[in-house]
Amino acid sequence: MVVVGAGFLGCELAASAKSLGCEVHVVELGGAPLPTMGTEVGRFVVELHRQHGVSFDFGQALTEFRGDGRVEEVILDDGRRLACDLAMVCVGAAPNSQLAQTAGLEMAGGIAVDSRCRSSDPAVFAAGDVASFWHPGLRRRLRLEHWDNAHRQGTHAGQSMLGRPEEYSPLPYFWSEQYDAMIQQVGLLDQAQQVVVRGTPGEGSFSTLHLRDGVVVACVAVNRFPDLAAARRLISAQARVEPRL
Ligand SMILES: Cc1cc2nc3c(=O)[nH]c(=O)nc-3n(C[C@H](O)[C@H](O)[C@H](O)COP(=O)(O)OP(=O)(O)OC[C@H]3O[C@@H](n4cnc5c(N)ncnc54)[C@H](O)[C@@H]3O)c2cc1C
Repeated sequence: MVVVGAGFLGCELAASAKSLGCEVHVVELGGAPLPTMGTEVGRFVVELHRQHGVSFDFGQALTEFRGDGRVEEVILDDGRRLACDLAMVCVGAAPNSQLAQTAGLEMAGGIAVDSRCRSSDPAVFAAGDVASFWHPGLRRRLRLEHWDNAHRQGTHAGQSMLGRPEEYSPLPYFWSEQYDAMIQQVGLLDQAQQVVVRGTPGEGSFSTLHLRDGVVVACVAVNRFPDLAAARRLISAQARVEPRL
């Protein structure tokens, strides 16, 4: 099987297919898997998959599917041909916001809503993957494609419809399960300047703490639940920490 894309879905699919006994090769345009989780976790994930027998091509685009009635090979942009029985394309998803667009709602890479899930039409609220919401803590728009956000923001939208004034200001949380690795993340890495690694990636249990101006803004934990819980508290408290501790 060829998996195109080494994001969350591509990596999870590769792990599942390999565990079911398939030969799996992953083709990824970028230089590493799961870029939103940071370099250290990307490196760990490649090693984890390689140990299970999955092979990778990084920095390669897939240009063509070939076959007679069904896929038999894929062509990479350096001209190489990879034989396969199955190709899975996991290169991202776009929100289905056609109804909102047709209705004339303001869009911002999704349905634009404020911190109370209200769209540009006061009678229309949006939540979940399709909502591009104003995050009052981060002071920017976010559109999150994860279960935890869909669940909590949906609840918040309902409360907002009933007149509750609280703003939706979540600490983003998501997870990915690959083989025996539970990878969890709180916060977002894109504003971080410094990373501190705790534990040993080679032993399959470690976490990365991401700091901005000495303040913890995100944590990714691999099979290390207590670190994630502690990081949640540090991020919420905007705590300043000493990196060497
Ligand atoms: C393969 C896969 C694996 C995933 N794994 C994880 C994971 O491990 N962890 C995690 O946190 N997240 C995961 N996600 C993401 C998670 O599933 C989504 O974030 C979550 O489902 C979003 O919920 P939602 O209600 O916003 O949207 P959806 O679940 O997409 O529901 C929207 C529904 O609205 C319907 N709809 C669209 N337009 C209209 C219309 N005009 N009229 C009526 N109905 C309409 C759609 O058909 C759909 O049923 C995964 C997603 C995929 C695709």
